[in-house]
Amino acid sequence: MEEIVRNTLLDVYSKLGDMEEAWHCFEEMGKLGDDVSFNSLIAGYARLGKGELSLVLYVQFLRTGLRISQFTFAGVLSACAGISGLVEGKQIHALVFKTGFEGNVFVANAVMDMYAKSGELESSWRVFVGMHHRDNISWNGLISGYSREGLSEEAMNLFIEMLKYGVAPTHFTFSSILSSCASIGSLLLGMQVHCKTIHCGLESDVFVSNAIIDMYAKCGSLESAMFVFNERSNLNTISWTALIAGYAQNGFNEEAIKLFTHMLKSDFKPDNGTFASVLSSCASLTALNYGKQVQVHAIKLGFDSNIYTASSLVSMYAKCGDMKEASKRFSAMPIRNLVTWNAIIAGHAHNGEGEKVLELFRTMVEQDGIAPDHVTYVNVLHACSYAGMVEEGYWHFRSMSEDFGISPYPDHYACMVDLLGRCGRLDEAEEFVESMPIEPDGVIWGALLGACRTHRHVELAERAAERLFAIEPMNSVGYVLLANIYSACGLWEGVARVRKMMHERGVKKVTACSWVEAQMGVHVFVSNDRVHPRLREIHEKLEELGEEMRRFGHVPDKSFVLQQLEEEQKVPALSYHSEKLAVAFGLISIDAPAPIRVMQNLRVCGDCHSAMKLITRIEGREIILGNSTRFHHFNDGICSCGDYW
Ligand code: ZN
Ligand code: ZN
Repeated sequence: MEEIVRNTLLDVYSKLGDMEEAWHCFEEMGKLGDDVSFNSLIAGYARLGKGELSLVLYVQFLRTGLRISQFTFAGVLSACAGISGLVEGKQIHALVFKTGFEGNVFVANAVMDMYAKSGELESSWRVFVGMHHRDNISWNGLISGYSREGLSEEAMNLFIEMLKYGVAPTHFTFSSILSSCASIGSLLLGMQVHCKTIHCGLESDVFVSNAIIDMYAKCGSLESAMFVFNERSNLNTISWTALIAGYAQNGFNEEAIKLFTHMLKSDFKPDNGTFASVLSSCASLTALNYGKQVQVHAIKLGFDSNIYTASSLVSMYAKCGDMKEASKRFSAMPIRNLVTWNAIIAGHAHNGEGEKVLELFRTMVEQDGIAPDHVTYVNVLHACSYAGMVEEGYWHFRSMSEDFGISPYPDHYACMVDLLGRCGRLDEAEEFVESMPIEPDGVIWGALLGACRTHRHVELAERAAERLFAIEPMNSVGYVLLANIYSACGLWEGVARVRKMMHERGVKKVTACSWVEAQMGVHVFVSNDRVHPRLREIHEKLEELGEEMRRFGHVPDKSFVLQQLEEEQKVPALSYHSEKLAVAFGLISIDAPAPIRVMQNLRVCGDCHSAMKLITRIEGREIILGNSTRFHHFNDGICSCGDYW
């Protein structure tokens, strides 16, 4: 009698996760317990992720000669699954056979699960196929295994089989299969699965509906995601995060930020995933002020010290060009991972701080023992290129494959071409391209063409352009570059030829735009903007600045008139590149002494670059101008790039 009470007590404690009390009961049982108490303890430790202790107890159990049951196997197999103990798992699987338990569904499911969680999906499948009787746990085990490993098609086929066999899917099945639809981006399949969830009456299950929102968001159908979201009465953090991430992934950054604000107002607590999404939206929009507000929430909820959120913060500040704050957040982190290091290295690289980047790279590898990846190397090589560090660039380019086994991607080759091109070693750059072991792509020919621009090498530019146009005939960037090279050399016939080519091929030029965050929002300008409500004030400001600049002897550089291949400019006094409009708007709307941060989709033209330098002197304000790969910090008449970009 007493033994039954103790066993029940032990089982309760172990299910509650209080293993100390459970162990206490076990010890009080004198002759070291019976099979029931052993099973409870083994399962209890496994549930807590302390699989090693379960295994120790299991060995002890085998020595006692007590009767092994399906519960012993299920407990110890789930312990192996939790610690990826494949070797132990296989031994136990052998014992399952020896003791004749292989036909027991309960045990077979545990064996399958152990294999699936240890990454041995084929073994898991073999067990599944060999089963005479399967329940929905067996199907779910294999489907979720396939889904976790990214074998979406296999997961989908098995799901269809499951339905054919008349086995009812559960919320586990649906959340796995919906995540498979999301990862292959198949909206059509996703919609069919959504219908099935309604059939099965599981649509409003919290797991399932979160997975539906996530699926629609990842497949790019944000309206459907929003629809399901609005229909829900049981929203939680995961639902909000799925929706916010969906908007952020699909590039609807302003909407993502609005949703985040809405989430906070509705009293839902964000998690690491939410912070990562919203901060990446802030970074994409260079909405630094909003990013700072997000940080306040992260601090309030204690997420700022979490490695994922902290890394997102470093990345947000770096992408907004605020390296002071990025470095501060970076230094405050007790541990850092590759994502953190890549964020800070990219930030300094975009600011052209070659020495700093190489120093950080050394610290990362030598002190933190973190191996770089291809992203790290793109930034290291970019930095070498911007800083004109040819030898260092070559050294790192070789080291990445020799020391770290990373084969260079086209991006890395493009960096090298850029590096050689910028410092005028154009013939060497061409040789480098011709001797590449992989077929050069558009990025590489584009880099060579870009290099020709700085050094006005028309013949090589024509050769590179021909190769580039053959690969990317509809990409306007190359045509604009070639036209600019012609125009810089005064070869107007060439410019006309490029225009004609673009017209004949139907190539649409990219609309140049710049944006600036001010007055609770992001303001976007296109060149010769005609729609901004404060356009008149902006033009007045620019005329005033033009007047001052002339006094400083600034002569507009005509060779850049074609930077963005504008149509004939009929009203020169009112036509301005987008970056100038954005800066002027910043000057009239952002209170001093805050710097003016402007982002643009193309690179800054030479004329705007020299104008920016003068504007900082005239206004006594710092201007930070950047695109996705490069920042210029203008202050007191000079630029951080040293006019080398
Ligand atoms: Zn310009
Ligand atoms: Zn510059």
